[in-house]
Amino acid sequence: MLAEVGAYGVNFHDNDLVPIDATPAERDRIVRDFKNALKATGIVVPMATTNLFGDPVFKDGAFTSNDPKVRAYALQKTMQAIDLGVELDAKIYVFWGGREGAETDAGKNPLEAMKRMREAMNFLCEYVREQGYNLKFALEAKPNEPRGDIYLATTGHMLAFIATLDHPEMVGVNPEVAHEHMAGLNFLHNVAQAWDAGKLFHIDLNDQNFARYDQDFRFGSHNFKQAFFLVKFLEDVGYAGPRHFDAHAYRSEDVAGVKDFATGCMRTYLILKEKAAQFNADKEIQALLAEINAEVPEMTPLLGKYSTQKAAALKTHTFDREIIAKRGLKYERLDQLVFELLMGVR
Ligand code: MG
Repeated sequence: MLAEVGAYGVNFHDNDLVPIDATPAERDRIVRDFKNALKATGIVVPMATTNLFGDPVFKDGAFTSNDPKVRAYALQKTMQAIDLGVELDAKIYVFWGGREGAETDAGKNPLEAMKRMREAMNFLCEYVREQGYNLKFALEAKPNEPRGDIYLATTGHMLAFIATLDHPEMVGVNPEVAHEHMAGLNFLHNVAQAWDAGKLFHIDLNDQNFARYDQDFRFGSHNFKQAFFLVKFLEDVGYAGPRHFDAHAYRSEDVAGVKDFATGCMRTYLILKEKAAQFNADKEIQALLAEINAEVPEMTPLLGKYSTQKAAALKTHTFDREIIAKRGLKYERLDQLVFELLMGVR
C-alpha cells in the first residue's frame, strides 16, 4: 500500500514485523516474506527501532528500569532488533524510551536513571562498532505519556545527554513535532539547534494541537504555518535524511482513508516545499528581509570574534538607545505576506 501511494520507505519497531514471542523459524519466515515485499515494491527501510514500551515487562522502563533483569532483557532485545534492522539495510536506529520515566520520584532516582541510560547507550554503541555495522543512533524525546514524566524530556535534553556518551559521534536526535509541541515548545527552534550541533540524523513529521495528548495527526493538518517554516528550514539547509511521517490516520477512516492520510502527509510536505521556494523568490518578502537584516557598517568592527581592541572600542562607544529602539521591524507586514502566500492569494 505504501508503494501504491508513492512512499519511499517504511520504518518499523521490531515487533511491528516480528511478534515478541515468535520462534526463530517464524522470525526467519516473516523476514523472508518482508524482504520479498520490499524487493517487489522498491520500498526501502531507512530506519528501524525497538519496541521497549508495549510489553508489560517494560512497565517501569527498559534501560532505566529498577530491575536488572529488565535492563539486561532490554539490551538483548535491542541487539536482536539492531541485527534485524541492519539485515534490512537500515542506516539509522531510533531510540524512543516510552516507559523510561516515572509517576513518582519516590521509587526511581533520576540521577541513577541517567547513569543507566548512558550505560545502555555506550553498551549498544560498542556492540554496533564491534559488529562493523554502518549504523547511527537517533534519540527521540517526549516529555510525558505513557509515563507521568519521561526522562530526557526534549530534544535539547537529548543533545546535552549525547555529549556525555563514549561515542557521541555515533549518536544524534530524532525530533518529533508532536512531542515538542506537547512540551509547549517551538519545534523549529529545536530542530535548528539539533542541525547546528550536527545531530539532526532523522526527523518525525506529524502534527499536534498544543496542550493535548500525543495526537500524531497528518503532517501539516493542524499548524500549517509552523509546518511551513519547518519545511522551509529543512529545504534551505539541505537536510538530506529521510522525511519520516510518524503519524496515524484518524480512527474514523477505512483503508481508502488511510491512503488519503499517507498521500496527504507527502503532498503537504511537497506543497510546503514549493511555498518555501516561492517565499525565497518573492521580491517583496526578500526586500523586507534584506532591510530587516541590513548590516550597519559602523558596527562591523565592533562585532564578531573577540579581541582586546574590540572590547575596548565597545566599552567607549556611545549608543543612542532611543533612536535604535524607534525602528520598526516590519514583522507584521512580513508575517501577513507569509499568510497570504500560504493561502494561495499571492
Ligand atoms: Mg516518533
